[in-house]
Amino acid sequence: MLRLSAITPSGHAHLGNYLGAIRRWASEGGRDDLYFVSDLHAMTTAHNPAKLRSLAREQLAVLIAAGVPEETVFVQSDLARELGALTWVLECTASYGEAARMTQFKEKGVGRGGVRLSLLTYPVLMAADILLQGAAEVPVGEDQRQHVELARALARRFNGTYGEVFRVPEATLPPAAARVRDLTDPSRKMSKSTRDTAGTLFVLDEPEALRRKIRKAVTDSGEEVTYDPDGRPGVSNLLDILAGCTGSAPRDLAADYSSNGQLKEAVAEAVVATLAPVRERTNRLLNDPGELERIRKAGADRAAARGEHRLRSALRLIGAG
Ligand code: ATP
Ligand code: MG
Repeated sequence: MLRLSAITPSGHAHLGNYLGAIRRWASEGGRDDLYFVSDLHAMTTAHNPAKLRSLAREQLAVLIAAGVPEETVFVQSDLARELGALTWVLECTASYGEAARMTQFKEKGVGRGGVRLSLLTYPVLMAADILLQGAAEVPVGEDQRQHVELARALARRFNGTYGEVFRVPEATLPPAAARVRDLTDPSRKMSKSTRDTAGTLFVLDEPEALRRKIRKAVTDSGEEVTYDPDGRPGVSNLLDILAGCTGSAPRDLAADYSSNGQLKEAVAEAVVATLAPVRERTNRLLNDPGELERIRKAGADRAAARGEHRLRSALRLIGAG
């Protein structure tokens, strides 16, 4: 099986990314799965080049530090030439209407000035990410499902029109994990791209910063600790976080604490214990550019080699060269 997943370096990785994705990639990822830092996808809206370059490098270091096998990671832009070429082939296979129908585009792009053309076409780049590698499974949330459907449609259409090249990928649902919510506003999920970072626990936050943010987390009225995600989202989020870090069930944990303060202390310790080793290993890698570059280059070479024959066949069959 070849499973493909990515994380976009749109900001610093946070506890939600770690518990919901990265940790799982580290523990369940098979040797021929692929996990990549999708930096090209972070260019579809206004971005800062230097910042993006540094975030992509940091994100790669976090993946490795978290235990995602070295031989399964790469940075998307290291394959910019291959992906650019395949995106063109697939854009010549897709219709304008298919791209314009994408819900994500309609939500983020339609009716705004200065929208980048890449915001319309990035689902085709995503199809190229998937089809170049011959991925069998793409675990995605509801919001990305439509994009995997597009990749399937394009693979089928290309194969039917020009000749069999692409494996038709399956969209799979990732195993349900509790969505980590923002500590200061539990009505929204913790996000890399949230501007106010007071409620975001970053993987690379110092322990003191993590503790401070957790101490300031909003809790709901009442001092008793109960698990009720709808009625008491703040306390329930803290219980979900504690559960995620310790492997227990949030409802069982609620009974162990008699005050919000006591719960917060426990959450702070659990989060620090979970993230501190990842932070330390990440910093070690970032301070050892030679080692990080070696891993990055090997990952890029492997991913490019894996896709080379598909790209060559696709170009040939569509009439190029
Ligand atoms: P952005 O705000 O730029 O969309 P993000 O924090 O939502 O960033 P993504 O790059 O969209 O991160 O997602 C990377 C992975 O992390 C996905 O597998 C996603 O399901 C998971 N993830 C993101 N946020 C959370 C969260 N709050 N709780 C659990 N998992 C999360
Ligand atoms: Mg997101």
